[in-house]
Amino acid sequence: MKFTARSLTLIENEMTAPQIGFISLGCPKALVDSERILTKLRSEGYIISPTYQDADLVVVNTCGFIDAAVEESLDSIGEALAENGRVIVTGCLGAREAEIRARHPQVLKVTGAHAIDEVVASVHEHLPPPHNPFLSLLPPQGIKLTPDHYAYLKISEGCNHRCTFCIIPSMRGDLVSRPVDDVMLEAERLANAGVKELLIVSQDTSAYGLDLKYQARDWKGRNVKTRFYDLAEALGDLGIWVRMHYVYPYPHVDEVIPLMADGKILPYLDIPFQHASPRILKLMKRPAASQNNLERIKAWRNICPDITLRSTFIVGFPGETEQEFEELLDFMTEAQLDRVGCFAYSPVKGAVANDLPDSIPEDIKQERLARFMAHQSEISEERLQRRVGRIETVLIDEVVEEGAVARSKADAPEIDGQVFIDGATHLKVGEFVDVQLEEADEHDMWGFLA
Ligand code: SF4
Repeated sequence: MKFTARSLTLIENEMTAPQIGFISLGCPKALVDSERILTKLRSEGYIISPTYQDADLVVVNTCGFIDAAVEESLDSIGEALAENGRVIVTGCLGAREAEIRARHPQVLKVTGAHAIDEVVASVHEHLPPPHNPFLSLLPPQGIKLTPDHYAYLKISEGCNHRCTFCIIPSMRGDLVSRPVDDVMLEAERLANAGVKELLIVSQDTSAYGLDLKYQARDWKGRNVKTRFYDLAEALGDLGIWVRMHYVYPYPHVDEVIPLMADGKILPYLDIPFQHASPRILKLMKRPAASQNNLERIKAWRNICPDITLRSTFIVGFPGETEQEFEELLDFMTEAQLDRVGCFAYSPVKGAVANDLPDSIPEDIKQERLARFMAHQSEISEERLQRRVGRIETVLIDEVVEEGAVARSKADAPEIDGQVFIDGATHLKVGEFVDVQLEEADEHDMWGFLA
């Protein structure tokens, strides 16, 4: 047989790839689960080892149907531990984790049946997948459409709310959260690949984990709940910027503000209020419509004075009176939000709000939009002016002929402002630098290296 350079490389890669031992017990349903786990692991470049000695780790897919099957499963786990030492347990007996751990406390992880992704995530954690550009067309962090130094991280899909202007739930269904260890694994991979800022996105970030009943998962030997606060705290340990988007003002959001004050995650909340009039919020069927948002904002700023609040609003919603619109302007004056986007209401095909009475004529919608934006731009400019003279850490996004274009902790990419550092062409994209801020308009800031 003649070996080409490529076939030799492939053989070498196979020889150095991590090896998994696998014991599959139980019924055909369990067998199918074993096949799916093995297929996934093999596709990622793991080798399936026929011996305990060659394996780097062993997965035991157990059966818990009758007592004899339980005993056989427990014996198999014991054998794998004795012969290899590193064992992940899955399958029906996994539902009785306490019983397994009582007999074999040293197992690395226990999952229930049909937990394909959980088993694979646990294998990744204890035995990272091989990466070789010859074998894999994907970089370890996956394909990203963003620049290398920041990435969006989606933590859930769908939404349990039914805001009357929105058709997302009818397209994407109810909330489906990713288990927290799965999210953390992706976050860690991105950080290891050089990402400096993670932008946490979903339809409703603060509802994260509700569908999973805030299930606790094992992450690096710690019990972490699939819950907004726990996720924020775990992400805060990665040592990179973490920015929260699409957070609704539920009371439990208050718990996360101290993490911002302590510098664990960025002091930034993208919190779409949409309106301030209780009647309009009710017509919109907004989550947390009855919360007193002004008091909440005041309390957040007391805990974390540097917090940046971004929000979006809709003006000209069906039935919005001039008085209700002015109520919104008063709210803006009181709330002193930093960054704001606003849209004139426009009917989306299939949205319930289309059937509401008293639609607002287009010219009035546009007039309210212009008044709203003029009102807010003064507030935004004034808030940026307060930062002039401060030294802040910024992240370099781009280096152009005139200098470097950066963002501060207060600026999310694409939607917020930028910080321009004239002449600083020696800086590198993805670098953090300290800048003395010297000028601002209603959107952007200018500064020089401190
Ligand atoms: S606007 Fe947001 S919270 Fe409301 S239904 Fe749509 S996705 Fe859900």
